[in-house]
Amino acid sequence: MKKLAGLILSTAMVVSMVSGCGVGGSSGSASKSQALSDGVLTVGTNAEFPPFEYVGDDGEPDGFDIALIKAVGEELGVKVVVENMDFDSLVSAIGSKIDVAIAGMTVTEERKQSVDFSESYFDAVQHVLVPAGSDISSKDDLVGKKIGVQLGTTGDFLVEDIEGATAQQYNKAVDAVNDLVNGRVDAVIVDSNPAGVFAKNFEGAIKDLDGADFGFEVENYAIAIPKGDSELKTAIDNALKKLKENGTYDELVKKYI
Ligand code: GLN
Repeated sequence: MKKLAGLILSTAMVVSMVSGCGVGGSSGSASKSQALSDGVLTVGTNAEFPPFEYVGDDGEPDGFDIALIKAVGEELGVKVVVENMDFDSLVSAIGSKIDVAIAGMTVTEERKQSVDFSESYFDAVQHVLVPAGSDISSKDDLVGKKIGVQLGTTGDFLVEDIEGATAQQYNKAVDAVNDLVNGRVDAVIVDSNPAGVFAKNFEGAIKDLDGADFGFEVENYAIAIPKGDSELKTAIDNALKKLKENGTYDELVKKYI
């Protein structure tokens, strides 16, 4: 949460403690959403994942996810404040520094131990980027290889299942791609859409291979929400449903993806 919001919030907490009711006048039940009652939804992202999130020309996070969460915020009648941070710190920041996270984040059982997820809003699969001249084309070909990944991502976790392979972890996927081009790693595992963007940026130098041919499974992106905040989850799910029904979602897909 932003400092100012935190200040307003702590003032509200003092007032509510004195007056004996919860933040924003709620009953204080565990499922009551603080983000909804304070009118500011602080959203964490990692703006290093085009076309879902990247730093725009004005220096602010932009991309499909950012536009989507802003549209969700409009539906909820809250102001959306975006905080750019490392992907690896998003889940632990939910409920403290940020209210929710949108970052092309795959729903996983492990993350579900710490956070809840909205309904999924996009499907993806991991792709494998290799140098243009590489003959890597299957999972067996990755055995024993040095594989560039973004730290704490599903691509990173997949390397654990590849025999003898080592994950070279980066905070930004683009740094892994740069090292691929410079010959410092043998392959990069990254989500399908960013893989397409990176392959285009380095056209001729790298090949973009569909992870389905490597046995990688479909992943579902969703918005991560504080565990147990059923009010916020329901509100976000309803907003997503509405944005799909009224064509806004499709417009954003057309604009960004
Ligand atoms: N979908 C991947 C994950 O959730 C990567 C997300 C990202 O790098 N922003 O781990």
